[in-house]
Order: sequence, then structure tokens, then C-alpha cells
Amino acid sequence: MKKKWLIGFLLIAGVLVYFLINKEDINKKPENKNENVSVETTGILENIYPIAGFKERITKKSFGDFISPKNSPVQPERFAGFHTGVDIEYGDVEGDVWVVAVCDGEIVLRRWVSGYGGAIGLKCQINNIDYYLVYGHLSTNSIIEKTKVTKGEKLAILGKGFSQETDYERKHLHFGISQNSLDLRGYVQNKNELGKWIDPLTTELFY
Ligand SMILES: [Zn+2]
Repeated sequence: MKKKWLIGFLLIAGVLVYFLINKEDINKKPENKNENVSVETTGILENIYPIAGFKERITKKSFGDFISPKNSPVQPERFAGFHTGVDIEYGDVEGDVWVVAVCDGEIVLRRWVSGYGGAIGLKCQINNIDYYLVYGHLSTNSIIEKTKVTKGEKLAILGKGFSQETDYERKHLHFGISQNSLDLRGYVQNKNELGKWIDPLTTELFY
């Protein structure tokens, strides 16, 4: 008799647990889709990233990765050291890809830079600290002419892969954030030096 009670109890408990789990599913909020925002809609949505598909396209080099010609996910590799930014990959995208200002600020550099091709340096002040954002591998001719820009504003399009525009790198955006001064180094040789940069993926300062 006792066994039957136990089986009955387990059955009821099982059904209850089943319904509780399903209820949670129903209540789950839809995931935030803003990450994939088209740059055409900038200024309207809350989260402005430097480029469409920002988070999910960081597939090769993250912030702080130690890169060497031997271990690099990019072959052949000509760089070595700790990566000071993130690389967002667009080798699969044919058309124009815009990069966007993630803060109100001032363009302090717009020119061709060895290792980057077309590059922008954007200075933004947040909580009295100056941040210098580097956007690398851009089409130099597409960089906007003005100096003061606002968050969400289009700045330039990515350079064509393996051309002078990217300094012969693949089609991607190198995005780095340094503090207190503009530093164009994409790699540094020790972890101490890396302390000048912040991880663009995890920072909550801009988006
Ligand atoms: Zn990079």
C-alpha cells in the first residue's frame, strides 16, 4: 500500500515540476535583438555599437589575445603581441559596411596608417576621462569630413579586403579604446602596457 502512495506522490510531483518549467519558458523575455541593429536606424535605438553585428562577429581576435605568426587564427600573420582591441569580421559581406560613432566626440585623426589602412581616431570624454577610439581598416575616401560627431553618426565604410584601404588585411574592423591619449598600436609587447586600453566588448561606458 505504501508503495502505491509513493508512486502516486512522485507522479503528481513530476506533473507539477513539468508545468513549472513550462511556465518559466512562457515568461521568458525575448532576447535583446539590438546587437544586430542596422546602422541605418542609428540614433533611434538605445544601444549604438561601432558596427552592425558587433558582438557576434568578433570571431578571430578578441581584446588581449596574444597573437604570434605561429598561433594566429589569421594566416599568414605579420603581427605579434597582445591585441589592443577587437576585430569584427566581414569577409562574408560584399556591400558597404558602415562604422558608427559610439559617443559624442571629436575626430582627432583621419588618415592612412600603416597596419590599418584608413583609420579614424575619435576622442570622447566620459566622466572627465578622455577616451580615444581607434577604427581601423576603413576606406580612406569615405571618412566623413566634419570634426564634431554625435553618437550614432556614420563615420566611414570598411575598406575593401586585401587592398591598400585595409593595408592588405582582410575585410574587418579593428576597434580599440585607449585612455588619456591616442595610441595607434594594435599590439603591445607586454601585459602591463595593455592596461592603457579597455575591452571594447565588455565595457559599459559607451553602449
Ligand atoms: Zn585588430
